Parts: sequence; C-alpha cells; structure tokens
Amino acid sequence: IRILAVETSCDETAAAVIENGTTVISSVIASQMESHKRFGGVVPEIASRHHVEQITVIMEEALNEANLTFQDLHAIAVTEGPGLVGALLIGVNAAKAVAFAHGLPVIGVHHIAGHVYANHLVEPLQFPLLSLVVSGGHTELIYMKEHGSFEVIGRTRDDAVGEAYDKVARTLGLPYPGGPEIDKLAASSDEAVELPRAWLEEGSLDFSFSGLKSAVINTLHNAKQKGEIVDPGALAAGFQQSVIEVLVGKTIAASRQYGVNRLVLAGGVAANSGLRKELEKTAAKEGWALTIPPLSLCTDNAAMIGAAAYVRYQQGRFADDRLNGVPGLSIS
Ligand code: ATP
Ligand code: MG
Ligand code: FE
Repeated sequence: IRILAVETSCDETAAAVIENGTTVISSVIASQMESHKRFGGVVPEIASRHHVEQITVIMEEALNEANLTFQDLHAIAVTEGPGLVGALLIGVNAAKAVAFAHGLPVIGVHHIAGHVYANHLVEPLQFPLLSLVVSGGHTELIYMKEHGSFEVIGRTRDDAVGEAYDKVARTLGLPYPGGPEIDKLAASSDEAVELPRAWLEEGSLDFSFSGLKSAVINTLHNAKQKGEIVDPGALAAGFQQSVIEVLVGKTIAASRQYGVNRLVLAGGVAANSGLRKELEKTAAKEGWALTIPPLSLCTDNAAMIGAAAYVRYQQGRFADDRLNGVPGLSIS
C-alpha cells in the first residue's frame, strides 16, 4: 500500500511516499526558515504564501523521486491539524484536489500523531507505549494502548518546550529557530547557571516552562542592572539542564505509574542532543525499550504523516469531502 502524504501545518511544505506505513520511498521538505528568520518567528501570512507556491511542486517531486505516478498510489494523506489555519488549508485542499482528480481516498492525520509515528519508521511500534512529545507547540506525555489510540496523561500548562527554547534564544540574541542554537551553546559550556525546576504538585505529570523562561530573563536583567555579565553558554546550559531534568523525571514517573517500559520520543525538540543522551542513559538504567527518531524525522516532515496515515488506512478511517484544516484539533 503506497500513500502520498502532505504536511503544511507550519513553515515546512512537505510531501512523502510511504509504503505499508514503515518504508519511506521518498520524502521532500521545502523549509521556509530563511523567510521567517528576519522576523524572529513564523509569520502566518508568509507561511501560507510559500505553501501555495510550493505545494504542487513538492508533491510532484515526491512522486518523481519515488519513480511513481498517481496511478501507483492507494491514498492521499494530509495533516488536518493542529497548526496555522491558512497553512493547513493549503495542504488539505491540495490533497483533496489531487485525490478527487485521481479517484483516491483521503486520510486526515493529526500532526502530533505524525510526530509519534516518526518512530514507526525506525522500528514498528509495540504496545502499550508511552510517548514523550516535545515540539514547538506541544509538550505531552501520551499513553498508547494500541495503534491510533492516544491518551494524553500529562501536558504543559503554559509554554511548550520548543517555544521556551525559541523565546530564551531570542532573549540571548540568537537567531530563529533558537532550539538548535541553545543546544549548541549549552554543549559548549562547562558551567551552568542554577535555575529552578518546575515539578508542580506531587504526582503531577504536567509540565510548566514559563517560570523557567522568566528566570532566564530575570537572571540577564539583574546582571545588567549590577553591571555584571552572564556567560550565555552557562545560561543556556542551566536552562537546558532544567528542561531535561524535568522532562526525563516526569517520563520516569509516568513509566512507573503506568507500568509501561516502551518509550518513544517525538517532536522537533527530540533533535536536542542533551535530551537524546539523557533519555538513552535513563533507558539503560530503567530497562526501557526506547526509540528516538533520526534527526531528519524529528522536525516537521511528511514521512511521519504517511506512517500515521497507514494505520487509519487499515482501519478504514477515511475522510469525506468535509475534511478541513482544524487549527485546534485534539488528538483523542
Ligand atoms: P507542533 O509540532 O507542536 O505543531 P512545530 O511543528 O512548529 O510545532 P516542530 O517542527 O515539531 O514544531 O519542532 C520545532 C521546534 O523544535 C522549534 O521550537 C525548535 O526550536 C525546536 N528544536 C529543533 N531542534 C532543536 C534542538 N536541537 N534542541 C532544542 N529544540 C530544538
Ligand atoms: Mg517548522
Ligand atoms: Fe511539528
């Protein structure tokens, strides 16, 4: 079964051909990073315009790279949400149009389900499992008892972790997206500024990153008032240590609470070198079977959407012509 998947929820226009949910035949990504960089973040209107220009070319490129035509496909999959409404609509309408023209069924995919299923391309998912989702807009612990079933057992109460990375980077004067910049800076420093950890109430699997973000800003501000200089590397390292300690700590708590020792990491922040290292260490200690996607599958791509779509294909969960972009789509 071959599925052409499309992803346009944010600032990458992506298409991929996936076979049987686990094999990537082709995967093409057009990033708009350079266009948004000078604004320090994604500008929705600019994102939409880029998607319109790119979507047809990218879909054709994915087919060309796979050496296939629309006749060789069994379905078209597309991210239906969450994301920027104008951006989502372009992918959804492009998918519906080509599906209609070629008599193919359409499958709507939740963007975060896609991030989780990036792991299915590494090693077929086995259940039950826990997924730590860390991305630009989400920070969640998800319990999956079977394919296509997502129970959110912990979530951020304020900023998503990627968002906190990007905001802290901005305060330090680093370019967008700030996650990779902070990661590099943190890795290069031997010292770390002591910053708070947001554990919340005893037993809570929720997260909070806005206090940590404020602590970084206050540290800079206080030093400036005293005419002192804070080493940006030490500040980045302190921030990253706090983030990782809480993310990993809550994941350990969730795994014990739910008696699950299969773990998968998902989302753009899964690219973080410190987090990957710490989770691998923890997995060895806790006896987890841990999967972490390769860097190319951590940030937004269409291959992960195709992987998640295959499950829906098998379950016969096709969309009808009312399929629409839903910015606040919930996963369960
Ligand atoms: P969502 O998936 O929640 O809708 P999104 O699609 O915008 O949001 P992703 O593409 O999944 O987000 O991830 C992008 C985020 O990942 C950005 O916030 C970016 O800074 C962060 N990120 C990327 N690489 C790293 C890294 N090495 N360390 C920390 N953060 C990173
Ligand atoms: Mg992006
Ligand atoms: Fe994403």
